[in-house]
Amino acid sequence: MKIPSTALLVSLLVMPLFAQVLKPTPALPPDNRLKADILLVVAHPDDETGVSAYLAKLIDQHKRIEVVYLTHGEAGHNNMGPERGTSLGAVRETEVRHSLATLGIDNVWFLDGRDTPSQNVLQSLGQWHHGLALEEVVRMVRLTRPEVIITWLPGFFIGENHGDHQASGVLATEAFDFAGDPAIFPAQLAAATKINELLLEGLQPWQPKKIYYFSDAQGDPFKDSGPTYITTEVSPSHNLPYWQLAMNAFSFHLTQYRNYIEGLAKKKPEEQKGDWGDPVELIFGKSLVGGSRTGDVFEGVTPAPVAFARAIPSTEGPAHAALELAGPWGFYDVFRREHNLTTLPKAAVPEIAITHGQTLQIPLTVRNTGSTAQTITLAVTAPPTWTVQDFTASFSLAPGESSPVLVQVVTPATDTNTGEVKCRAESNHQTLGEVALHVKLRAGGLPQ
Ligand SMILES: [Zn+2]
Repeated sequence: MKIPSTALLVSLLVMPLFAQVLKPTPALPPDNRLKADILLVVAHPDDETGVSAYLAKLIDQHKRIEVVYLTHGEAGHNNMGPERGTSLGAVRETEVRHSLATLGIDNVWFLDGRDTPSQNVLQSLGQWHHGLALEEVVRMVRLTRPEVIITWLPGFFIGENHGDHQASGVLATEAFDFAGDPAIFPAQLAAATKINELLLEGLQPWQPKKIYYFSDAQGDPFKDSGPTYITTEVSPSHNLPYWQLAMNAFSFHLTQYRNYIEGLAKKKPEEQKGDWGDPVELIFGKSLVGGSRTGDVFEGVTPAPVAFARAIPSTEGPAHAALELAGPWGFYDVFRREHNLTTLPKAAVPEIAITHGQTLQIPLTVRNTGSTAQTITLAVTAPPTWTVQDFTASFSLAPGESSPVLVQVVTPATDTNTGEVKCRAESNHQTLGEVALHVKLRAGGLPQ
């Protein structure tokens, strides 16, 4: 047997290494099969329903729509079989893929968030490992390069009771502000250096032009907050009104709504229209290309990309007060200011709906905003049949120092449906600050 020469040995050893290095080739442009006009960012399969009639109309106008779901929607019941948990999530993913395909939407992604049944956006963000989820949503924005993002409204309202919905709106808003920033998640932007590249993703920064929201909540704060689209026009491609396309698409969500969908199929068209014929109402978030608050979503949008625009925090809003609601309410005050979204709808008095008999939790921050040490006392009042549990009522605080406090109120099992809990901070018989929480009691609903 002939022994290979040293030169051959060296080349045999080195070749695999050279083979791993990427040869310079002309860079390909971003994959246009993924380019979106609208990226819908939502939490669960079926969340698209709130805007699906509008999406169907846009598809008739040759707009490209893509959807990102933060979870598979694996919590909850299954009306079709025994599958639960992760398996139910797989079923729901299939249901919504079929549903969206009927509208003409094929590019659909599911991220790794777990379905988190609570009203508290902070619990959903914690469950989803906020930073990881943000990296994923920023990636989806850079991959799909949307002109416009539509997402759930990040806000706490009676009628919008899912923390996951709100959390998807928080992440989509952050991604709107961060995806164009080349300093954010730079590994996504670095070009591949190896043939088998696993870490550097070769994306480009992308700045969407507009962001709009939608919500399950209704009422005064939402009036004239964005464009409205009627759904009774007939789709030229399907020869059906848009509300009916939305209703037909919804009929795939059988694990969640089997009884309702089976009943709906037996209703007369006029009755179906009564259930489904409402307009789609959007809420204007922000725009880098002008356009009016209630004008068309694509007003001002042209094919030319826009430069990255760092979000300038709003200067509106009070400085720290002696008494503030903390938890999700306090978070949204900061969030709206930091993302310059102070025109978004806001409840006149902070509010929540919970189940009769539940213990209401009110997280507060007590703060010494003065220039000398203070002893601040906290007083809480609630409707007569509601029971305020013992809480820390006295705080000795240095100037600028703050303390968290949790007030818990046991609500009655029946007799009242609404009430207001008021909290007051005082020092030396002087009121330093007050907050109120409007509470609606009802049957069912998610835990706080
Ligand atoms: Zn949902």
